[in-house]
Amino acid sequence: MKSASFIAPCYNEELVIEEYYRRVTAVAEKTPQYEFEIAIVNDGSTDRSREILDQLAEKDKRVKVIHLAANQGHQTALFAGIEHASSDINIVLDLDLQDPPELFEEFVSKFDEGYQVIHAQRTKRPNETFFKLMSAKIFYKLLKFISNIELIENCGDFRAFTKEVRETICLFKEKHKFLRGLFVLVGYRQTVIQYDRDKRYSGETKYTLFKMLNLAADAVLSFSQFPIRLILIMSFIMWGASLIYLTKALI
Ligand code: UDP
Ligand code: MG
Repeated sequence: MKSASFIAPCYNEELVIEEYYRRVTAVAEKTPQYEFEIAIVNDGSTDRSREILDQLAEKDKRVKVIHLAANQGHQTALFAGIEHASSDINIVLDLDLQDPPELFEEFVSKFDEGYQVIHAQRTKRPNETFFKLMSAKIFYKLLKFISNIELIENCGDFRAFTKEVRETICLFKEKHKFLRGLFVLVGYRQTVIQYDRDKRYSGETKYTLFKMLNLAADAVLSFSQFPIRLILIMSFIMWGASLIYLTKALI
């Protein structure tokens, strides 16, 4: 029997966890040819998430919970889940149900066609603020301009990949990861499927402006030589200016 892991990070999602569990287990019931694992990484939640997750893990052996000792951020939590999971196929998604787990069937049909990484691309994004949509657009354009990687537009962290791809991703040891870039970088046979992004099931976004800026900085620092070149150019300018000043002072 083939195995499949759903991997989701969770930060203060007490209002969503049970519905997420219900939706994922419904997918599992519809596809009995797979043995499922429901891996959830508790990213240092301070609400009742920990208790709810432990209760679920107690009653259902498919639920595997990883508790991080403090809030480390979405990318780190997601990576902890990826490191843990070892199924034949792995699906990473947000726990707030903006990424529908029901897309599983479409992922499977793409795996059957021989693809190894399947990115889910958002078409509609209801209830996202104008600021979020605009800042994401500008960020992708900027990154495309200064980096050497062709990111897929409107793709977040909803994708499926094989065991082999997971092993390659786990070889990246840098502390600050930009996973959506790494998944493009690793190669393999990749494809994109489209989906309508739902609105958050309940609760508020956990991505503060500060966290968004951090993610953008990690992307630029990981995938572009621009910051290093900028430092080099700046140092030449400073060096030139001080040489001119020195000559002037000597004269
Ligand atoms: N998340 C996390 N740690 C954080 C922030 C977010 O694990 O520090 C999780 C969150 O619980 C959710 C996913 O990452 O499952 C995406 O976060 P959110 O929905 O708040 O972001 P948005 O969709 O608004 O960009
Ligand atoms: Mg969300």
